[in-house]
Amino acid sequence: MNEQWQEVGDRVYVRRHKSYDMNVGLVVGDGHCLVLDTRSSHREAADLIEAVRRITGSPWTVVNSHSHFDHYFGNALFGPAEIWGHVRCAEEIDQYGEQQRAVMIEGHPERREEFEEVTIVPPDHTFTSAASLDIGGRIVHLQHFGLGHSSNDVVVHVPDAGVVFAGDLVEEGAPPAFSDSYPLDWPLTMAAMLDELPEQVIVPGHGAVVDRAYAQAQQAELALVAELARRAHVEGLRDLIKLFPYPEDVTRQAIDRAFLQLDV
Ligand SMILES: [Zn+2]
Repeated sequence: MNEQWQEVGDRVYVRRHKSYDMNVGLVVGDGHCLVLDTRSSHREAADLIEAVRRITGSPWTVVNSHSHFDHYFGNALFGPAEIWGHVRCAEEIDQYGEQQRAVMIEGHPERREEFEEVTIVPPDHTFTSAASLDIGGRIVHLQHFGLGHSSNDVVVHVPDAGVVFAGDLVEEGAPPAFSDSYPLDWPLTMAAMLDELPEQVIVPGHGAVVDRAYAQAQQAELALVAELARRAHVEGLRDLIKLFPYPEDVTRQAIDRAFLQLDV
């Protein structure tokens, strides 16, 4: 996979990385730019910064799409800069950042040093439902449409370019990731995003850039997951598991998370 920037709208770029098939967004204005997500370590962030500098020399504002390590472990290397995120993004990073590091080291001992050298830096500019940024004369909207892939997913909308960065609310190349999710809310959150934002170019947190039809189809799958999970909670899972649109391991994670919501 080539890690070149792809221009998906006027001066709006995506860089898709081999590591976690992860997308970083770049919005370039006059004398300022926005970097969406900072990758999973300082080393990966250094590589990203070099790539940003091939496009623009302007100072940046950073946005974290949500509080998962692969989207923010590189934050420290971008300072000093404003780092934006949902208010719960900052809270969850404070609360679970070290735990995420420990899990990564345990799962990837060969990257121990790389994860140990990460300075965990949460966003220092937060919002609850929406914020608008002036990025060198371009207005960029940050919106939180509700619970979904995480408690704090931020959607970045660049209206003058017709581009939406959906973070991990939309996933391409792999099933949606449910481990920290709110499966009962996710389809509603995605429907709200699609209702409000008419754009055709949607950049997922991982995988290839998609169109509106792809996101709508994924929303329908997520709605089916929520519906089947509710049924399973009443009837027991039994053969229902075969009706889910995702592989069994993914489905079981979705069900576990849905039951957590239903058992409250
Ligand atoms: Zn995530």
